[in-house]
Amino acid sequence: MKEISVQTRSRFEMIDITAEVQKAVSEDKIESGICLIYTPHTTAAVTINENADPDVSRDILAALDKAVPLNANYRHMEGNSAAHVKASLVGASELVIIEKGRIVLGTWQSIFFCEFDGPRSRKVFISIIAGISFC
Ligand code: ZN
Repeated sequence: MKEISVQTRSRFEMIDITAEVQKAVSEDKIESGICLIYTPHTTAAVTINENADPDVSRDILAALDKAVPLNANYRHMEGNSAAHVKASLVGASELVIIEKGRIVLGTWQSIFFCEFDGPRSRKVFISIIAGISFC
């Protein structure tokens, strides 16, 4: 298992971690397999979406904020229930295919770490299973 450190700078933020994930895969010299990208936090998430237009990330964060408002008579004493709900909606992990040593993503796709209660120091774990061919 490998670990990526992510320092978030805002309360809500999506950070492209594709290059760091590819670096972890390249270090293992894996030809084919699968790669799990998992974040061990309850107010953060991992997702795959468009990298070309930064407004897509902004729109996703805005839509999540509209769907899950900061204040809505939540019971959780810590005061960050909206972040917990968003983390569960988006999910803690993504699974990607590795072929020819590269993670397989669409032209416009990137892997994003999603911060919902920053700024904080966060971790993402990478677990690679080698030798599974999808051809
Ligand atoms: Zn909490």
